[in-house]
Amino acid sequence: MVASTVWGVSQTQQTGPVFSGRSSAVRAGEVVLSLVASGLVGMRGWAGVRQLQQPYHQSLQLGLDRLAALCVRVGRDAPVGVQDLVGTWCAGRAVDAWPLELDPDAQVRGERLLIGGEPSEFCLEWAVAARDVVSEVHESSLVKHIKDTAALLGRPELYARWRLFVTERAVLGPDAFLAAKNAVLEVPQWATWMEESYGPVPVELTVRGRVAVCGRCEQWIAPRSDGSVRCRVWRCGRQHDLPGPVWMDAEGARRLEPELVRFVALPGHPEVDLAQQLAARGARVVLYPKLDALDLVASWPDGYSVGVDVKDWHSPYLLARRIKTFPRWGDGDPHAYRKGYLVVPHDRLRGNRDYLKILVRHSAALRAQPHVEVVSDRDLVGSCPDLGPVGEVVCGP
Ligand SMILES: [Zn+2]
Repeated sequence: MVASTVWGVSQTQQTGPVFSGRSSAVRAGEVVLSLVASGLVGMRGWAGVRQLQQPYHQSLQLGLDRLAALCVRVGRDAPVGVQDLVGTWCAGRAVDAWPLELDPDAQVRGERLLIGGEPSEFCLEWAVAARDVVSEVHESSLVKHIKDTAALLGRPELYARWRLFVTERAVLGPDAFLAAKNAVLEVPQWATWMEESYGPVPVELTVRGRVAVCGRCEQWIAPRSDGSVRCRVWRCGRQHDLPGPVWMDAEGARRLEPELVRFVALPGHPEVDLAQQLAARGARVVLYPKLDALDLVASWPDGYSVGVDVKDWHSPYLLARRIKTFPRWGDGDPHAYRKGYLVVPHDRLRGNRDYLKILVRHSAALRAQPHVEVVSDRDLVGSCPDLGPVGEVVCGP
């Protein structure tokens, strides 16, 4: 492994502020940002700034009230209503122009909450930070139900299999949907999971009876008002040679539910990519072992093994709060691994020189686990053995 491209947490001795140590002014600023962001994300039937008629998400109103109070305190003009907050502040102004006191490591400069009438990636992450939506999704309804049922059946690999399936398939034609429902006949619940993961394709998602699927991230794309389609996912948006969309017949088709796209399929993409790259170097890669205790464990025939959590976040400041404790499994455990890695996709690091510094500075979990290394996906793959025939990606031991 090349020392200069590996960031061992133990080498970094900063003891910067952690979540609970923030000043009350910073906390107040973060609460406003989180409330407004989750209000924007939570608005149902979002049809862009111009058609803002739906009942506003409650947190948008709460965010407005608190922001207005802060404005009054510092003698600035406050937003005059939700419409003004959304149309002028969220769509038109970068957050650094708001009168909020925020930690410099939050890197809000030039960041807007709405871009082209849609919540930005910055907005999505602050919404998650506010309501703990990831764990909400995980702990609530479908994801939790699938986890619990898989555990109850003694078949934790079914949870991993479901996760892998929805990550790779955003739209299913009628035949593919039927096949998906019948894929695990001995577990009748599986068909129900598929029914609840995939809903009918709504008409506003279609252009002349077809639905577009991004050629890179493989998620469905909502067309713009002029009927054009361009994927808004951050990584797709910045790719110059983005492949064109694949068009699928919408008749009788099903599409992955939006919250599963956002919180399961999109984060799952870099996880599955990494699994495939490690398998290409001869590893046997187990995805989501022990009901998601880690994203993957890769083992090579010579005994080398790694346990990996992949975190694909724009903001290292917000990611720092979500790093978990890596499980330690004994030698006899089928998922035992020698070394733990927190992997950040290389393009996140390339776009932000301070990424790792901020991440380590704000993560108590990383400081408490000096044996866990933070690396880019490329560096991890480059540091692993490349042995013999191509391995495999599997969902169980
Ligand atoms: Zn895409």
